[in-house]
Amino acid sequence: MNKKALARRYRVENGKKFKLADYDPSDTWKLKKEDAEGWLEQGVARLSELQSLLYAQNKWALLLIFQAMDAAGKDGTIKHVMSGVNPQGCQVFSFKVPSAEDLDHDFLWRTLKCMPERGRIGIFNRSYYEEVLVVRVHPELLDKQKIPPALIGKNIWSERFEDIASLERYLSRNGVLIRKFFLNVSKKEQKQRLLSRLEEPDKNWKFASADLEERKHWGDYQKAYQDMIRHTATEESPWYVIPADHKWFTRLAVAEAIVDSLESLRLAYPEVDRAKKKELAKIRKDLENHRTE
Ligand code: AMP
Ligand code: MG
Repeated sequence: MNKKALARRYRVENGKKFKLADYDPSDTWKLKKEDAEGWLEQGVARLSELQSLLYAQNKWALLLIFQAMDAAGKDGTIKHVMSGVNPQGCQVFSFKVPSAEDLDHDFLWRTLKCMPERGRIGIFNRSYYEEVLVVRVHPELLDKQKIPPALIGKNIWSERFEDIASLERYLSRNGVLIRKFFLNVSKKEQKQRLLSRLEEPDKNWKFASADLEERKHWGDYQKAYQDMIRHTATEESPWYVIPADHKWFTRLAVAEAIVDSLESLRLAYPEVDRAKKKELAKIRKDLENHRTE
């Protein structure tokens, strides 16, 4: 099995002809769960090494964006894939219903404050993409955004796509590597997962009746996701449409995509020049001479 092929299988770099229906949520690339476990362990270990390099080099930042329908497994994927990563080099932000302060600003404001520093990995659990997903499916949310009414026209969604694409191009040009994951769960599997949230006491806390409400808009969401990917998948900031009906496979495919992306940066520890080497040798000698102190 070729890990690079797995990493790239679900990548969309040019969204123009993208059709969500071409992507099977239950695909496992003929892998078996038993094989995947060892692979995931290796992927997590590799990710940890790459993150050390990213941090030491302190030039690139990595922004990982996760979007999905409820119960598609965003939280579990983030938890498992990032389990080997040093918490000091990683920042996770979850974007929920915007606050009053958020709504007093432009729609990108709250996410811009959370962009990863150089050398760090930033994870967005939901993001500014909600602005062309939940807000598109429920356009009445626009009224709460206090935008001057004259600026809300029939092109509002394509304008938002354009603004998002510009932001991502700007970030890419400044050394932020952006990778976006749509965890593609089927309607049938979502039903099973929502039912288990109701049936298993340990999962009750996860159940939100709003999830059922959103499920009724499944078709509209699928259209919104498809259109979002069509307009915002680029070579620099691709979307990965990850099958999400089997959690073990979702985690593996996401891990391999992140490893592949970081490897593409050809990271290396900063070179120590001759003067610095000389200085270090001197310090070492001094330290050794004071061994008994
Ligand atoms: P959860 O991630 O399950 O805790 O749910 C967070 C909720 O916040 C989801 O229902 C999102 O659709 C909603 N949400 C996130 N961003 C926005 C936004 N910009 N406008 C409106 N609702 C949002
Ligand atoms: Mg939820």
